[in-house]
Amino acid sequence: MTSALLSPPSVTARVPAKVNLELLVGPVRDDGFHTLSTVYQAVSLHDTVTVRPAQEWEVAVHGTFADGVPTTADNLALRAATLLAEAADVVEPVHVTIRKEIPVAGGMAGGSADAAATLVACEHLWDLGMTKDALCDIAAELGSDVPFLLHGGTAVGSGRGEIVTPALARGTFHWVFVPSTGTGLSTPAVYGEHDRIVARRGLTPDPDPTPNPAMMSALLGGDAEALAAVLHNDLQDAAVALRPDLGDLIDAGMGFGALGGLVSGSGPTVAFLCADAEAAIDLAVSFTASGTATNVVRATGPVAGAQVVPTSRA
Ligand code: ATP
Repeated sequence: MTSALLSPPSVTARVPAKVNLELLVGPVRDDGFHTLSTVYQAVSLHDTVTVRPAQEWEVAVHGTFADGVPTTADNLALRAATLLAEAADVVEPVHVTIRKEIPVAGGMAGGSADAAATLVACEHLWDLGMTKDALCDIAAELGSDVPFLLHGGTAVGSGRGEIVTPALARGTFHWVFVPSTGTGLSTPAVYGEHDRIVARRGLTPDPDPTPNPAMMSALLGGDAEALAAVLHNDLQDAAVALRPDLGDLIDAGMGFGALGGLVSGSGPTVAFLCADAEAAIDLAVSFTASGTATNVVRATGPVAGAQVVPTSRA
C-alpha cells in the first residue's frame, strides 16, 4: 500500500497502426511535401505508451520491434511530449516507455502512432483539458500521419495527409500484414524514387487528387471484395523498384487466395485484404507453411485511434 502511494502517477495509452487503402501522390509543394489524397484505416496492431513524471526527458523502448528505435531526443514520442509541454507551459519532464509491436520503418506509421499516444497520455497526465482539434494541431506539427492516429477508424487524409475527414465504413475488414525481414524503407527515399519514376515516364501528377468514389462506396457497403478491387498505392512502383522482393510477395499472397494486396504506405510492409477471419488465418498459414514469410501478423480494421487505457484505482 505504501509503495502504491509513493509511486508517481502514470498514464498509459494504446495506439493502432495504419494502412493506406488508397494513396494518391500529387506534385511537390513549395514546402517540399507532396500533395496527397489518402484513405487511411486504423488496424488492430497496437503500440502502448506509458508516461510518468521524471527528473529528465527520457524514453525507453521494449517489445517485438524495439530494435533500431532511437532512445534519444529524435524519438517521435519524446518530441511529442516536449512539444505539448512547450505549448501548455508544462515544465516537469516525463519518462516515456514504449511497447513496440508496430513494425519500424514499415509504412505503418509506427513512430507517428507513438507520437499520437504520447500526446493523449501527456494531455491526460497533465490534466490539460484540451480539445481533440487543439491536440490535432500539435499532432500535425509532428508529422503528416499523427492527426489520423488520434482519430483512428477510416478517414480521408488531404493536404500532406494531416487534414483528416472521417469516412463511413461498415463492418470489419480482415488483414494479413507481412512485415519485412530486411531493413525498412525510408519514407524520403521512396518519395525520391517516386519522383524519378514520374519524371522518367513523363507523367504530370494530378494537382488536386481526390479519393476514388468506388472505394468510398465499397467502404460504406462493408464490401471486402469491392474494396480489394480498388486498393491502390501510387508509391508501390517506387517501393518495388527499391525492393523487388515486395512484388514477389504480393504475387505470392494473391496466389494463396488474398482478395487484394498492396505495399502499405511507403513500405516495405505488404498488406493483404481477406474475405473474412477464416480466410485471413488460411492466408497466414499459407505464408508460414510455405516458408514464403516467417513473420506474419493478422489484424482487423477499422479500430479506434490513440486512447488512454483506463486503470483501476483502489
Ligand atoms: P510512415 O508510414 O509514417 O512513413 P514508417 O512506418 O515507415 O512511417 P516509422 O516506424 O514511423 O516508419 O519509423 C521511421 C523512422 O523514424 C525510424 O527509422 C526511426 O529511426 C524513427 N523513429 C523515431 N521515433 C520512433 C518511434 N517512436 N518508433 C519508431 N520509429 C521511430
